[in-house]
Amino acid sequence: MNNYYDIVVVGSGPAGLGAAFGLLGADLAKIGLAKVGRPEPSLLLLDKNEVSSGGLRNDCKMNFSWPIGFPEACWTKDQAEAYLGRVEAFLSPVILEKRNLDLYSKRAEKLGVSLLSIRQSHLGTDGGLELIGRLTAKLKGLGAELVLGEKMLSLDAKKKILITDKREIQYRDLVLAPGRGGFAFLQGIMNGADIPYRDNVVDIGVRVETKEERYPIVKDYYDPKFLFPKKTRTFCTNSRSAYVVQERYGEPETGYWYSVNGHAWSTSRPANGLVNFALLKTVTLTAPLASGQAFARMLGMQAALLGGGRPIMQRIGDFKLGKRSFSESFLGDLYDFEPTLPSCTPGDIGLSAPAKILNALWNGMKLLDSIVPGLLHPSTIMYYPEIKLYANRPAYIDGHFRSAEGLYLAGDGAGTSRGITAAWASGLRVADGILEARFA
Ligand SMILES: Cc1cc2nc3c(=O)[nH]c(=O)nc-3n(C[C@H](O)[C@H](O)[C@H](O)COP(=O)(O)OP(=O)(O)OC[C@H]3O[C@@H](n4cnc5c(N)ncnc54)[C@H](O)[C@@H]3O)c2cc1C
Repeated sequence: MNNYYDIVVVGSGPAGLGAAFGLLGADLAKIGLAKVGRPEPSLLLLDKNEVSSGGLRNDCKMNFSWPIGFPEACWTKDQAEAYLGRVEAFLSPVILEKRNLDLYSKRAEKLGVSLLSIRQSHLGTDGGLELIGRLTAKLKGLGAELVLGEKMLSLDAKKKILITDKREIQYRDLVLAPGRGGFAFLQGIMNGADIPYRDNVVDIGVRVETKEERYPIVKDYYDPKFLFPKKTRTFCTNSRSAYVVQERYGEPETGYWYSVNGHAWSTSRPANGLVNFALLKTVTLTAPLASGQAFARMLGMQAALLGGGRPIMQRIGDFKLGKRSFSESFLGDLYDFEPTLPSCTPGDIGLSAPAKILNALWNGMKLLDSIVPGLLHPSTIMYYPEIKLYANRPAYIDGHFRSAEGLYLAGDGAGTSRGITAAWASGLRVADGILEARFA
């Protein structure tokens, strides 16, 4: 195992891949790598998981329109569009057709809701795995060393040494792209390296699951993006062969909590006729509590407490009547499809979610039901909580997400993206920064 690399990229998700391909696709001799006195420049891409390319493993719906996935605090429209062009040229996606948008847009506008028209592609979870295989082979062909199953633990930013669970590695440039799951890890690194950051924004919501016939817009527009009042929006719609999944957060010492999420298989898998999507409210915290992570953890723990260590699910029929759902009443009659995440606890979301958040979400559900009638059928399920933690906002010292000499932060964990294409774009932007810094 080597102990020195010119560039180390931690995290093999789209942000890490964007950085690695951005660097390896460039003329490396030109960026001064030869100056460190080595015959060949070296790039290590490290991931703690035995199998990875991060979020490309999940559904792989890719959005190629501003502002989807781009936090406006660190991107302008022009910047994002320029990088999106590069991401699209590299990945060559098949853009999905959209139909009848006018119909839905007009209904939405009358209610003060916007329907964004987004250029999208969809590979599905299986298609994403194939893409990973192709990208990994390409990366190795370009000379990168890809090491899976090695976890970065800590950093000495002054000495430019990172410590993993297997070795110490000296680097010249380090790109940290640990994703949302690495949110707390990144905070630990930033605390140790004296990098100031804010973490005051978090998205809290529900994952809605229903039959496709009750949300037929998905036949016309794969992932419709509605923006409602009160900073509430639809996000990550999956259909045809769609499933709700559970993610675990936290540590053994502090306790675990759960967020739900959703994915779909590609058209090569049998359809189950269901659709799921997130309905999220963005919460911006102010003093005295300014940590989205702390707030999310508290809400997640509360939901896990009420759900007996699992997320909660409730049928709309019960929710409307102010009743909790029970497992014995969860199937049959009007409740005419089985939940795809049956391990959730049937319960009462109203007992767990803060009123302000729940009111905004319910308002969004009602508006959506007026635009796409059928959604509020009694059988529709709301799973709670769905929490998006991507709101570390480090203080960057340049426009390429550099936080210290030779240290760059990219992707969802660093607050520079909220989706696959934007994460890839943030990695490319970091690669440009490294090229500029070393070539100048
Ligand atoms: C179920 C699900 C479905 C999704 N569907 C979509 C979708 O359809 N479309 C979309 O645009 N977005 C989707 N997303 C979001 C998308 O996956 C993320 O926005 C994107 O992957 C962020 O990229 P990233 O590179 O920042 O982080 P990630 O993709 O999360 O990659 C981070 C990588 O870093 C590794 N890592 C973390 N800590 C360490 C460490 N200490 N040492 C070494 N390695 C480490 C992790 O193992 C991981 O592989 C989905 C997310 C989930 C969970």
